[in-house]
Amino acid sequence: MESMQINLIQSKTLLTRSSGYLKGVCSHSLNPYSGCGYGLSSCGEGCYVRFNQWLTRGREWGKFVDVKINAKELYIQSAEKEKNWAHQRSIPFTIFMSSSTDPWQPAEKKYRVTRAVLQAMATCPPDTLILQTHSANILDDQETLLELAQRCSLRVHISIEGDRNRLPGLPSPPCSVEQRISALEQLSAQGLKTVACLSPLYPLENPQLFFTRLKSAGADAVIIDHFIEGDGTAEGSRTLKTRLPVAMSQVQEDSVYLPYRNQIINIARTFLPVGVSAEGFAGHYT
Ligand code: SF4
Repeated sequence: MESMQINLIQSKTLLTRSSGYLKGVCSHSLNPYSGCGYGLSSCGEGCYVRFNQWLTRGREWGKFVDVKINAKELYIQSAEKEKNWAHQRSIPFTIFMSSSTDPWQPAEKKYRVTRAVLQAMATCPPDTLILQTHSANILDDQETLLELAQRCSLRVHISIEGDRNRLPGLPSPPCSVEQRISALEQLSAQGLKTVACLSPLYPLENPQLFFTRLKSAGADAVIIDHFIEGDGTAEGSRTLKTRLPVAMSQVQEDSVYLPYRNQIINIARTFLPVGVSAEGFAGHYT
């Protein structure tokens, strides 16, 4: 982590009106950071954001984090206006946090930008709040989450791509599979709505056991999203440029093709409600 560049910035905006893929998921996305301290972990390899040149501005993914130190103030200034904007269009004010960073990445331990924004939401809550993380550090904010769940419809998405901690040739994940399932379990036990996100889906060692574990941990649903159709390109061409598909096929050859996703969806449905790709992120499960 020694080469990580951390920049404290005054951001101009915080709530971004959704476009493209996110439009069906939320009215706004909210990124308390730009860049991600988990970018050099396994999830950073196929991370869709690393291809966003507007965001990276030529910087290497995983080597920079811009900390939006004025995020709380920006939220307070703009939330009411953005809520009205959504309601005028007859859509709920739904915030997805976060679409291009992890709200509980290592920098959050020090800067607590995510926490400050969540606390600010108490005064002007969204209608729906979707929190997505790869990190068990979300447990640091359990109390705030419980308070927010009283004021809005809250869903916590914990990213758990599969039941293996390592794929060949890839670095370790931000947080072990066990730690993430345990975080999901602790949040569920508090009565929070939790969803396990297999996004992008990795080859599973024992699908039945994995879904049994997620179900007994209290997950309300799972989201299954393959890099094909899931990485913003129809054929998964962005991900095909990374080391992820090779690592996946070394473990299980057919896992890099869409029928594998469908096979896993069918197994998952015998255990839990399943949402596929954008439908799942939007909270639609069958
Ligand atoms: S935690 Fe999320 S945003 Fe960060 S590198 Fe991993 S997938 Fe990308």
